[in-house]
Amino acid sequence: MTTAYMDNNATTRVDPLVLETMLPYFSEHFGNPSSMHSFGGDTGKRLEWARGEVQKLLGAEHDSEVIFTSCGTESDATAILSALAAFPERREIITSVVEHPAVLTLCEHLERHEGYTVHYIPVDKEGRLQMDRYAEALSDRVAVVSIMFANNETGTIFPVETLARMAKEKGILFHTDAVQAVGKIPLNMRDSAIDMLSLSGHKLHAPKGVGALYLRRGTRFRPFLRGGHQERGRRAGTENTTGIIGLGKAAELALEHMAWENSGVRRLRDRLEAGILEQVPYSFVNGDLPNRLPNTTSISFEYIEGEAILLLLSRVGIAASSGSACTSGSLEPSHVLRAMDIPYTAAHGTIRFSLSRESTDAEVDWVIAQTPPIIAQLRRLSPYWGANGPIDAEKAFSPVYA
Ligand code: PLP
Repeated sequence: MTTAYMDNNATTRVDPLVLETMLPYFSEHFGNPSSMHSFGGDTGKRLEWARGEVQKLLGAEHDSEVIFTSCGTESDATAILSALAAFPERREIITSVVEHPAVLTLCEHLERHEGYTVHYIPVDKEGRLQMDRYAEALSDRVAVVSIMFANNETGTIFPVETLARMAKEKGILFHTDAVQAVGKIPLNMRDSAIDMLSLSGHKLHAPKGVGALYLRRGTRFRPFLRGGHQERGRRAGTENTTGIIGLGKAAELALEHMAWENSGVRRLRDRLEAGILEQVPYSFVNGDLPNRLPNTTSISFEYIEGEAILLLLSRVGIAASSGSACTSGSLEPSHVLRAMDIPYTAAHGTIRFSLSRESTDAEVDWVIAQTPPIIAQLRRLSPYWGANGPIDAEKAFSPVYA
């Protein structure tokens, strides 16, 4: 059976060249990079090479601006908590309503249990940040802005440079969760107003359990993990050496493949999107269409359930994600789709397809061939769907008195 892995925003396959680069550091070169002897020296040098590769991918000025962490979530938490600790007199935070839970849950916790005021900036129907609301929230009471570079569900790219410059004018630190952007779109931290940026290895063909935080030189910083002197005292704990070396190789490869990501991958994504939309009535794409990651499409299929679509897609070897959060047994549409005010009957049937440089034309052909009949099959079972298309939900469910 043909298969199609279309869930690269959830995680990517480790590139074989990444794995090959990592392997010797499990066995021959097993030393602790902090050790003074040659065993440590070997791994230490390779670790610094990896830092340089991440620096290049980010277009950063100095390799010392790269701090290795265990994941995107740790990088996000480090950035936000560091800013709050460094500016204790400032008790407000700005973020957006469509952040990943790595940021949102932390902000909600800080609001509820630590007494911070959090401004959650709303988005419009296309998922674009409401700039007037952002401008209103900026003040010298705010310690940190944390707004994502690109949204994981719709791929919508936010104007982070503009946002960072506006924050800078008020002396506010600017952090961006760039977990979905790094490796997919070119970055240039040298000429940027962003102070801190999070990334995660497993979204760019490195292994899970390794990430990094970019920290602009001169930015006030307080460590999240205190202990040993690793990472120049900014993140204690023996480094995940193999993971970091894998991330270094993945960064090198991401830079090599960047042009393809924005031509080949984009072409495949656009073909997939057009192929589905032209065959499936009552379907549409979510997000700020001209300003999206090249690999992501979020498609709403009205009048059916995303979970059922995923199940049937999975039966024919297609892996994708739905726009629902299956929490406590209820299939609520995701916070991102709700924030964008996508109608209930469409938000429920939303599927995210996310490609990578490993995606092929054959995979796209398979998805285009398999998806429309699945949607048609589910609609035949839907209470919102009649013989001639959608039925007015109110009419369908209002009691009939004979
Ligand atoms: N931020 C965004 C936008 C993400 O998409 C993810 C993962 O899906 C994360 C943060 C969390 O990254 P990690 O799994 O490395 O903790």
